[in-house]
Amino acid sequence: MCTHESSVPARRASKIANTCIWAKYSLPGRIRNNVIESRDMHHNFTEAISVLFECFVQFFVIEAIQVTDLVIGNIQIDRIVEMILPFETIPNFYPDARPEQIEACRPMFEPWALCPQTGKIILVVQSYLVRTGHHTILIDTCVGCDKTIPFYGEWNQRSDRSWLTKLAESGVSVTDVDFVFCTHLHCDHVGWNTQLLDGRWVPTFPNAKYIMSRQDFELAQETNDPGFGENLLPVVEAGQARIVDTDYAMDEHIWLEPTPGHTPGHVAVGLASNGAEAVMCGDLIHSPVQCVYPEWNAASDANPDQAAKTRRTFLSENCDRERLVMAAHFPEPSIGRIVRADDAFRFIFSG
Ligand SMILES: [Zn+2]
Repeated sequence: MCTHESSVPARRASKIANTCIWAKYSLPGRIRNNVIESRDMHHNFTEAISVLFECFVQFFVIEAIQVTDLVIGNIQIDRIVEMILPFETIPNFYPDARPEQIEACRPMFEPWALCPQTGKIILVVQSYLVRTGHHTILIDTCVGCDKTIPFYGEWNQRSDRSWLTKLAESGVSVTDVDFVFCTHLHCDHVGWNTQLLDGRWVPTFPNAKYIMSRQDFELAQETNDPGFGENLLPVVEAGQARIVDTDYAMDEHIWLEPTPGHTPGHVAVGLASNGAEAVMCGDLIHSPVQCVYPEWNAASDANPDQAAKTRRTFLSENCDRERLVMAAHFPEPSIGRIVRADDAFRFIFSG
């Protein structure tokens, strides 16, 4: 098992702004309330000082975790990580990979993207929390809890709800989320769409509209595996599903871009604000090794030819640009830029 060193270069300048926001809205109130409470209850100066001290300790502790991954114009973006794991070996994950290519890429990607002990690709399972000032949006919702995923034991019937805690630590409650964008409907992208409460699947975000592409929704409906009943049907029955075309645009700040291949209705999610741009690319590419070998299709790509074409087009169109790429599964910090290298590409993490 690989140990993963958490990298924090992307958690930088915006941290200061975020800390200031936290301090402005939380710290003074907390200090004031605690001090007043202390004075009224105990009339004890020493007690008030100790409460003040505790508040400052809280400030520095919370400051350490109140960080923002990215700011795009006026849009604040945070990653909510559910898990980081060595997922599968290259030959199993990318059946197109040739042995000499695997050997050649090892020095480039070990140990941060490729586990040297197991030879497995290291994947992050995460959501992107997007706060525009008008909307609180989640892009993809990880694996979730209690889900029936028999083909991968690590994801089957999970009981770890820490993803919800991390979301709360970002200052967002489940009732705050007003949109959930699904890049596609595989089980590691729609898990927290719902949760099991009192034996019943209910939408985790009661005030959200869930955006899903028509092609993928109809395919899931037709397939009707346990994931449909657990992750999607409860959202439909609650009247919260919005089945859309793959070129849907919510407004000038957030829209879908059709990127078929991994699934027929797979979409990337484009973001723009004040001239800055980013795109969350979903599973059109799973690992930075595919920047070097764009022709490597994942075993889970539904239409391999189309997936490879979409991947190369995406890499070409987004390389050597300021537009940031927010990857679904790349190792942390998962956000960066694509640059051209020979007849392929490289991924450069931001920060
Ligand atoms: Zn995935």
